[in-house]
Amino acid sequence: MNIEEVQSTAKKQRIATHTHIRGLGLEPSGRAIDMAAGFVGQKEAREAAGLVVDMIKQKKMAGRALLLAGPPGTGKTALALGVSQELGTKVPFCPMVGSEVYSSEVKKTEVLMENFRRAIGLRIKENKEVTELSPEETESLTGGYGKSIGGVIIGLKTIKGTKQLRLEASIYDALIKEKVAVGDVIYIEANSGAVKRVGRSDAFATEFDLEAEEYVPLPKGEVSKKKEIVQDVTLHDLDAANARPQGGQDILSLMGQMMKPRKTEITDKLRQEINKVVNGFIDKGTAELVPGVLFIDEVHMLDMECFSYLNRALESSLSPIVIFATNRGICNVRGTDMNSPHGIPVDLLDRLVIIRTQTYGPAEMIQILAIRAQVEELRIDEESLAELGEIGQRTSLRHAVQLLSPASIVAKLNGREEICKADLEEVCTLYLDAKSSAKLLQDQQEKAPKPKQRPSLSLHE
Ligand code: ATP
Repeated sequence: MNIEEVQSTAKKQRIATHTHIRGLGLEPSGRAIDMAAGFVGQKEAREAAGLVVDMIKQKKMAGRALLLAGPPGTGKTALALGVSQELGTKVPFCPMVGSEVYSSEVKKTEVLMENFRRAIGLRIKENKEVTELSPEETESLTGGYGKSIGGVIIGLKTIKGTKQLRLEASIYDALIKEKVAVGDVIYIEANSGAVKRVGRSDAFATEFDLEAEEYVPLPKGEVSKKKEIVQDVTLHDLDAANARPQGGQDILSLMGQMMKPRKTEITDKLRQEINKVVNGFIDKGTAELVPGVLFIDEVHMLDMECFSYLNRALESSLSPIVIFATNRGICNVRGTDMNSPHGIPVDLLDRLVIIRTQTYGPAEMIQILAIRAQVEELRIDEESLAELGEIGQRTSLRHAVQLLSPASIVAKLNGREEICKADLEEVCTLYLDAKSSAKLLQDQQEKAPKPKQRPSLSLHE
């Protein structure tokens, strides 16, 4: 397993609307500050979440989970993200929705297992022997185009005007494998000769019209130092990296992969092997586990099979912190004929710490919308912000947040830099919120003539 090649598989899209959240915004005493770390209001829930963070740090949440219960758009996802950020900067946060487990191809427990592993981080510390070049040495070797990053030799030297040298075959292969293109800056690891792309130097590319063969790696210098290189990955990143089909890098196989998107199958056997390697790292002291946060929204969508799995998984020593969210009261537990609070069976409910989130008043909504506009670098005038706040009150905060981007596009089309009331009115005619859309359909259904009832036919007649 080459850790350096492991790529992050974090679900960045899902948390895009929460980029302004940087923690829970609490004082050291645990009191919530009115507006801090991107958070506005929802103070009781934030304080309660802060206590849960303390319990997690004191290892008092083992075998238990958190449930956030409250109406849509009251910041449940934002709170869960805040909890993960309070636990540390590199703590993984994996959001999912209960209904995601229903797929025709993958078992429900498999989906849950994958998300559990996305929420468990591993911090790997490697002591690498690296060659350190002084800036002068780098300069003289690369003609100014090379750099020394983190004590590892990097850089390429052009030999324009001098005799063309051929690369060592192994390094040439590595260049091709890494798909190094003209203008890429690479480093060559001192001991293994491994090549890694670290960036671009466009000046380098335009000044010399180079072919890969014309690149000359820097000579290997003296090994001078052991450096600690820290890398954060999740268990799922490792699963995915090792499940990749080992296709060649020739054009035909690359084209094949493009036309037939490859399925990465992660088997139980593979996961067990990864666990073995990971445990080996941990025993040697080269890695430590960083349990993160798994956020399961719409928990009432899960069924009995999932709940049994979760009960077991929460007991495991490899469990992340699980935060559920729901906007339902008493409802059916899927897969049974029982009703239960939030659609969660009683044995799991017993393990939960429950925090309630409440709807926002107009002033809080306007503040949240102003923060989102600032983060999305959109300009909106005071009057429109107040109007958007009212729309949020009538519909939902989420709907109001979502109107910001189209409104700014409409403003630009109307030749304005700043969103004004007319732009907002225009997008409101274009997009409906969920409640109005449902009502519209209902009204239409009621107005439509009822289909004539066909007389029922019986086979015996
Ligand atoms: P749902 O239950 O429908 O999943 P939710 O309760 O998770 O919704 P969010 O999606 O977290 O609500 O909130 C909607 C938007 O408002 C997001 O952009 C979120 O970051 C932001 N937001 C919600 N509450 C706050 C708050 N108290 N402070 C700052 N931003 C907030």
